[in-house]
Amino acid sequence: MIEINNKHIVVIGAARSGIAAALLLAKKGADVFVSDNGKISETAEQKLTEAGIPFEENGHTNKARSAEFVVVSPGVPTEAPIIQYYLNEGKQVFSEIEVASWFTDQKIFAVTGSNGKTTVANWLHHVWETAKRDHALAGNIGVAFSDTVDSNNGDFLLEVSSFQLDHIKNFKPAVSMILNITPDHLNRYQNSLDAYAAAKFRITENQTEEDRFIFNYDDPIIQKHVETLKKKQNAPKLWAFSNENEVPEGAFVRNEHIIFKFNNKEESLMPIEEIGLRGRHNLSNGLATALAARAAEIKNETIRESLKSFTGVEHRLELAREVDGVKYINDSKATNVNAVWFALDSFNVPLTLILGGRDKGNDYSELNTQIREKVHTIIAIGESKDRIQQQLGKTVPNFVRVETMGGAVRAAQKVAKKGEVVLLSPACASFDMFDSYEHRGKIFKEEVNKL
Ligand code: ADP
Repeated sequence: MIEINNKHIVVIGAARSGIAAALLLAKKGADVFVSDNGKISETAEQKLTEAGIPFEENGHTNKARSAEFVVVSPGVPTEAPIIQYYLNEGKQVFSEIEVASWFTDQKIFAVTGSNGKTTVANWLHHVWETAKRDHALAGNIGVAFSDTVDSNNGDFLLEVSSFQLDHIKNFKPAVSMILNITPDHLNRYQNSLDAYAAAKFRITENQTEEDRFIFNYDDPIIQKHVETLKKKQNAPKLWAFSNENEVPEGAFVRNEHIIFKFNNKEESLMPIEEIGLRGRHNLSNGLATALAARAAEIKNETIRESLKSFTGVEHRLELAREVDGVKYINDSKATNVNAVWFALDSFNVPLTLILGGRDKGNDYSELNTQIREKVHTIIAIGESKDRIQQQLGKTVPNFVRVETMGGAVRAAQKVAKKGEVVLLSPACASFDMFDSYEHRGKIFKEEVNKL
């Protein structure tokens, strides 16, 4: 643990986790100052004022340069001049999860990956609830780790992003998990997939033999980094999960059943058809969840029950409504091509696909094969309409351009037939038309409810 009593600490970035770290550090006796280069929200200002923490907004003055060490919000890139200043001074820069971890000895279960983090974190929460185990669900998900650190006497179930992992030092999960690694946010990692993967693998950096690392055996990038991890002395115990291959130790699928394998002994957990969520990706997510639960010594019976009864998370392949025999599915959280690929893979009925938004340099052609097989109509919305039309226009019999979500839903209703699915899985960020992916999903559902 780093000594913080009376230390002068600057928190850069006053969003949710920055504020939570500032409040926690102040409560624990540090002398904290918060600095943001944009506007600080009124609620945040109020919290800081109540706690007697001084702050500045709309730019970093010299006051932000006087700390013994710095805590950086995940939204602030390492290249930001203020962070570079501290790094050049040889001072330490920590993330909020690092700070929070100083104040607890409870077990940390931390999940990261390019896709599926929120689903798995919530699934873990559901298993822990079913098992009636004390815990807190936190991290990149509603509540910051720092907010829960003093009130929870059970396990911490954390969703962790690579940005949070960029600035850890002692953060040491008892169980760490990497679900998959696909190109996303590469702009923050010098456009290098290896650098991005290395950032994710920092989740294992402080783990030792008594800890566990749960990973996706089917992911080639993860496999490559696992080989390096294996060579490390005192490395965490490795548990793999796979829906394609049998694994040496962990969870896999054989004859449509989930099999656990530990110390060369196999146990049949449950038939895969019992799993509450659809899609191959959710089978992977379920296997990862089951292994983490097992690491917590939760009984197989309880694990089975909670893999069955989990109903998923809003905006992730969520059934909005069925109208005239057509299912309208809200997958607004699919903000990259890989997530859309798995969404398409989850259905075997003809589809109408609503795609588009703010483009992140996507290669939509990765979806070609599945679109040819399953999608009869693409409805394109948002800024990326042209790019989508260029790349996918010829793969479908019917390509429709619309200006609003209402227009998209009404156009879909015209072409979708009984027994089919209308899928909003945009592959893009939402900020061209909406405040957030949640807002986009909400408007989709409202429009569907008007039909
Ligand atoms: P994250 O928190 O990592 O963004 P979510 O659980 O919110 O992940 O899911 C984001 C999107 O990715 C959703 O569209 C969801 O259906 C899809 N998804 C969920 N799990 C996986 C997975 N294991 N692989 C690929 N896509 C996934």
